[in-house]
Amino acid sequence: MALLQIAEPGQSTAPHQHRRAAGIDLGTTHSLVASVRSGTADTLPDMLGRHLLPSVVRYGRGVAPQVGWDALAHAAVDPANTIQSVKRLMGRGSAELEDAHLHHALVESEDSTVPRIATAAGAVSAVEVSAEILKALRARAEASLGGELAGVVITVPAYFDDAQRQATKDAARLAGLNVLRLLNEPTAAALAYGLDQRAEGVIAVYDLGGGTFDLSILRLERGVFEVLATAGDTALGGDDMDRMVGAWIAEQTGVADADAGLAVRIRHAARAAKEALSDREAVELALELGDGGTWRGTLTRETFEALIEPLLRKTLAPCRRALRDADIRTEEVADVVMVGGATRVPLVRRRVAELFGRAPHVDIDPDRVVAIGAAIQADVLAGNKPDGEMLLLDVIPLSLGLETMGGLVEKIIPRNASIPVARAQDFTTFKDGQTAMALHVLQGERELVADCRSLARFELRGIPAMVAGAARIRVTFQVDADGLLGVSAQELSTGVHAEIQVRPSYGLSDGEIERMLHDSIEHAGDDLAARALREAQVEGRRALEAVDAALDADGEAFLSPDERAAIASAREALAARVEGDGARAIKQGIEALEKAAELFVERRMNASVRAAIAGRRVDEFSQD
Ligand code: ADP
Ligand code: MG
Repeated sequence: MALLQIAEPGQSTAPHQHRRAAGIDLGTTHSLVASVRSGTADTLPDMLGRHLLPSVVRYGRGVAPQVGWDALAHAAVDPANTIQSVKRLMGRGSAELEDAHLHHALVESEDSTVPRIATAAGAVSAVEVSAEILKALRARAEASLGGELAGVVITVPAYFDDAQRQATKDAARLAGLNVLRLLNEPTAAALAYGLDQRAEGVIAVYDLGGGTFDLSILRLERGVFEVLATAGDTALGGDDMDRMVGAWIAEQTGVADADAGLAVRIRHAARAAKEALSDREAVELALELGDGGTWRGTLTRETFEALIEPLLRKTLAPCRRALRDADIRTEEVADVVMVGGATRVPLVRRRVAELFGRAPHVDIDPDRVVAIGAAIQADVLAGNKPDGEMLLLDVIPLSLGLETMGGLVEKIIPRNASIPVARAQDFTTFKDGQTAMALHVLQGERELVADCRSLARFELRGIPAMVAGAARIRVTFQVDADGLLGVSAQELSTGVHAEIQVRPSYGLSDGEIERMLHDSIEHAGDDLAARALREAQVEGRRALEAVDAALDADGEAFLSPDERAAIASAREALAARVEGDGARAIKQGIEALEKAAELFVERRMNASVRAAIAGRRVDEFSQD
């Protein structure tokens, strides 16, 4: 049932009423908020006139978290409670964080799939840390604009996967923001340059920020732009330059292993030196070593450039890949746009100019260009520009597919397909009389399920019993404008149907987000643990059912008594755990059972292939 909108007394619904909207660049290093005022988009400063907000949050016991400059100022004295570069952790599981250069201890909570960072205020997730940054930006915007925001556009790297996008949306909801849409950062940059107003052409956007690198190829046609391809590296940026310079400084000082405080001082000195070298040929360095001594030295631009050259080379490979994916030759690129603070480094500009054979656009402040573009888009989406309609197309960063027999992935929507997009493919049953089908949705480019990221599993039940291969099940993948995925499966003769909105397994349900708005951080942790446990239990029961059915059908035929006993014992071990409360124990039980049944599964499959071949004439298979 649709609700009728009724105007509140005293509130006008006149079409020209201006709705407060803002664009937010939620960066790894810095975040910004911008808005269109009197027809011009600009970033909003804080009360001290600073536009950039360091993406840094410091937690203390019993006090509200500090965000931004105050938090950054404490990074050296209180590194354990001061969280930086949290964007690198968004949507990531513990296993994926190993090479994220973390300066924090992760809390390994038994039943949670969400890694949490230990702080004086308790364990916090990346989503909660990001929400603090967003709350600070929201307060700044509402103070500047004189009232509550109707909606925001938040930018994300084009290379963000579904999990990272969902985590960003979750953070915004926790911060009390209405997200009009997520927008790819390069698309925002092109909007800021007003390239949609220009002639047709191909644009490359090179974004080297603090923690991420993106190269996007956009095509402009009649004022509409489409992202033809994106490539990048979610763990490459100005922070890496700092590390390289920091390693050089550490080597020069001769300090073998720096304590946490000195490590932070070295990182800050390294960053300051790097930034200064964008305008100067050499910088003088002075560093307190902590033992009362001070180290002094000089870093020249020449040495700096030699240090970072390998990093720049690493950015050029994705550039070439994106061009290849977009089927665009470098000569066809009409404009190159520079985004991100690290593109101020002169060597970066030189290398990019060499690759594309033209000087890149650097006129708009590369720190602010993304927030400005987001503000322009937010203004349009909030309805403040009735005639300025604009269609923006994005692409999906990683292929989406389904698990098929043998642990292989069938790609349904290929990488770099323009979104929104819907694709369907027909599948069939594998066994005679099969009435249910498990669907496993995956993301990634590799062929094997084990090498891709698992997004969701669901089941289609009520398939009429038929011989294997007779049923036709149409599976449809649909990706909305934010890059979020819905999958549905329908048996075509009966119309039985099942579907799922894919939320990455670490993600939060609507109900949980709602509760988190009211409850304490500890409660939220319990909610997540409960969810993780329920998911593990469902999966465990499903595994038990599957192995029982397989043993009933083919156990006699394919297994020796010993082999059968081994599977049965793994089955019993899982059955004993599945109603317990240890998600991890259940997961391990499932893995052990899968391992024990591996050979059995393979033999059944071979037999079914043989049966299929036996039903055909030999000449169907011969080539000549
Ligand atoms: P993000 O989008 O990841 O937050 P930014 O676009 O804010 O990143 O870029 C931050 C990076 O830019 C940091 O590594 C910072 O040191 C670097 N940076 C900022 N100003 C300069 C400068 N003048 N020269 C070189 N690097 C700079
Ligand atoms: Mg950025």
